[in-house]
Amino acid sequence: MPLLEIVQVGDPVLRAVARAVTQEELARPELLSLIDDMRETMRAAPGVGLAAPQIGIGLKLAVIEDPASVSAEDRASREREPVPFHVIVNPTLTVEESEPARFYEGCLSLSGFAAEVARARAVRVDALDEHGRPITIRARGWYARILQHEIDHLNGTLYIDRMDTRTFRRVD
Ligand code: ZN
Repeated sequence: MPLLEIVQVGDPVLRAVARAVTQEELARPELLSLIDDMRETMRAAPGVGLAAPQIGIGLKLAVIEDPASVSAEDRASREREPVPFHVIVNPTLTVEESEPARFYEGCLSLSGFAAEVARARAVRVDALDEHGRPITIRARGWYARILQHEIDHLNGTLYIDRMDTRTFRRVD
C-alpha cells in the first residue's frame, strides 16, 4: 500500500476551496483505492484525520479515525473517545453547541507545530459515505474538533487561521 505525500503549508492546494465529489466519481473503484491509501497514510503519520487537499487533491473528502490513545486524564478533559475509521464526502457542518473548548491541536500539514484553538464543543455533520449514501454525524468533544479541523481543510482554512497566535509553538 503506497503512502501518499502529505503537502505542507505554503502549497496553494491547502488554501483552495475543494470541489464536491460527483456521484459518478463515487461509483469508481479509483475513489475507494484513494481512500485506502489515505487511511494508511493517516495511520502511518500518525494522525486522526486526513483531508484530500493534504495529499494534493482538491476534493471534498476526508478520512477520520481516532484510537484515542492518550491518558485517561486527557480523555476526560478533552471529551475524547475512540472513533472508528470512516469517510466523509461533501460534508456540511452545523454548530450545535457554540460554547468553545480550547485545546492545543496540530496538523499533518504544519508538521512540528501546535497551537491552542477554540472550537465548538458539539457539531452536526451531514455528508455522504464512500458509497455515496447520506450520513448524519452528531459529535462532541474531541471528535467534534476533528470534524471541524478536517472540514476547514476542505474550505482552504488551516488551524493557524483560528488559533490563539500567542500559543503557537514547536512541539519538539
Ligand atoms: Zn490538518
